[in-house]
Amino acid sequence: MLPSRHLANLTDITPPIPMPSGNDWGGEIAYLDRDGVLNIGSSDYINNVDELIVLDGVADAIARIRNAGFRVCIVTNQSPIGRGLWSHETLAEINSVLQERLLKSNPEAHLDLILYSPYVPWSNAWARKGNPGMLQVGRQILAAADSDESIEEFDYGPKYISVEEGNSFMVGDRLADMKAGLNHGVRTFRCNEDLGIVDVIERVLNFDDDGDSL
Ligand SMILES: [Mg+2]
Repeated sequence: MLPSRHLANLTDITPPIPMPSGNDWGGEIAYLDRDGVLNIGSSDYINNVDELIVLDGVADAIARIRNAGFRVCIVTNQSPIGRGLWSHETLAEINSVLQERLLKSNPEAHLDLILYSPYVPWSNAWARKGNPGMLQVGRQILAAADSDESIEEFDYGPKYISVEEGNSFMVGDRLADMKAGLNHGVRTFRCNEDLGIVDVIERVLNFDDDGDSL
């Protein structure tokens, strides 16, 4: 069970968003949870655009992360789709508005890739955090787009052959995010859900900071 991708098929090769100042991308990725990291989270899910409230300072933080050389990959569990509460189209609208609002706030606040897991918790899907499947796939999509290569098949699952992640990192507000990041083998940071990414922005950009443990 693979993750889903915002407004594209998983194997589509879409032109990469230019890095700031025309720099080359060195291969490092900021894997970010969405709810409680970019926008205010809710135990009842974010069900429509009206419930989407971007946290203060998030657009500037994303711009800083991209200016530091990272591509941004959103990895978000969205089980309401699997529960039949709403559709992929509902989520796509929310994600599109999120990107619009970020760019309106800071024109450099690009999200390079948005992946989501539509599966219910009891599916134990590899694409659902705490498993690292979304991070595995995100890495391969971004790498393929950067080199303009096609993807025949994903290296996916518990036997994933990890690649050099450098200073890549994962940020989330929940235990499942911590597990996903640590299972993927990147620096992993837990943020306060009321502050989101802003809570840990100085830490993630301090490459001497190895992140948090479980
Ligand atoms: Mg969250």
